[in-house]
Amino acid sequence: ARQAGKQIIKVYEKDDYVQHYIDEMTIEMELIKGLKAGELSVVYQPKVGCQDGMVHFEALVRWHSAALGNVSPETFIKIAETSLLIEDITGFVFDRVCRDMMEQPELFAGRRVAVNVSPVLFRQDYIKQLLQVLATYGLRPEQFEFEITEHTLMQEPLLGIQTVDYLKTKGFRVLIDDFGVSYSSLNYLKMFEIDGIKIDRSFISQLDKDNGLKEYEIVKLIVSLAKKLNLEVTAEGVETEAQYRVMEQLGCDEIQGYFFSRPLPLNDLQQALDALVYQHAALRQLELATT
Ligand code: C2E
Ligand code: MG
Ligand code: MG
Ligand code: MG
Repeated sequence: ARQAGKQIIKVYEKDDYVQHYIDEMTIEMELIKGLKAGELSVVYQPKVGCQDGMVHFEALVRWHSAALGNVSPETFIKIAETSLLIEDITGFVFDRVCRDMMEQPELFAGRRVAVNVSPVLFRQDYIKQLLQVLATYGLRPEQFEFEITEHTLMQEPLLGIQTVDYLKTKGFRVLIDDFGVSYSSLNYLKMFEIDGIKIDRSFISQLDKDNGLKEYEIVKLIVSLAKKLNLEVTAEGVETEAQYRVMEQLGCDEIQGYFFSRPLPLNDLQQALDALVYQHAALRQLELATT
């Protein structure tokens, strides 16, 4: 079973159509078991402020299944979203993050942690539960952001608006994740009172390619529009210095991606933060020298 599982997951990352061959029920059942057995964990990816080098984090869930090996969240979140399981996962991630923040106050001082949520099942009574968890740990909503993907917001637009408004009145920051890839991206800016957007990796990855001119123009427009609307802009999936430079010059506020750091377990974060201070300072110095 282990070998078969590994094979499935390897192919799955590459070819979405293979999804049809996968028994989603198996994954769902293993996920239920895995949640109970403590197979899930949380890693943190830094987001680096272009100007000040300030680092915040995004929390990302990981699942190492005894039966299936490592399963990507791209795979199991989709499945979890079709049932109440997604609430258990959000609950697990949120609780884990709160505990980490409480146990390592120096590490997280002045830093926000972003949690990915699916508003489909993200109703007010559930948010109330999260607020209770926060209170138990002595943390404040201002220390958190919620990243909500476009497609989930639009599944139920009215619920989406209510959810975003409710989160905002409670003091949480709200970002639209993977911005630019759905059919009505601009509509979201009108409909939802959000704090910022994260431009999808598919645009960023083309910025330093010869055939990436379209992406460049689109990203330029998105950034300038977002600025006019007073939204913070984060670029996701920045992998090269050239991509960083383009985004920085366009006025992007925050950069996230392998160029600065991969998602890391809690124990590796302090070391990564120390290295990021130097990396950011060196980049800024080069900029000053060339302008
Ligand atoms: P996302 O929220 O857009 O997260 C960004 C994804 O891109 C992460 O994949 C991250 O590891 C990856 N990434 C970051 N920088 C780079 C880069 O420079 N290059 C490349 N190629 N990739 C990069 P991951 O962790 O596999 O998560 C995939 C998606 O699964 C997330 O996309 C998010 O939508 C969802 N997800 C992850 N954790 C959670 C969670 O706790 N709850 C919910 N509801 N969804 C989650
Ligand atoms: Mg995200
Ligand atoms: Mg994203
Ligand atoms: Mg993405």
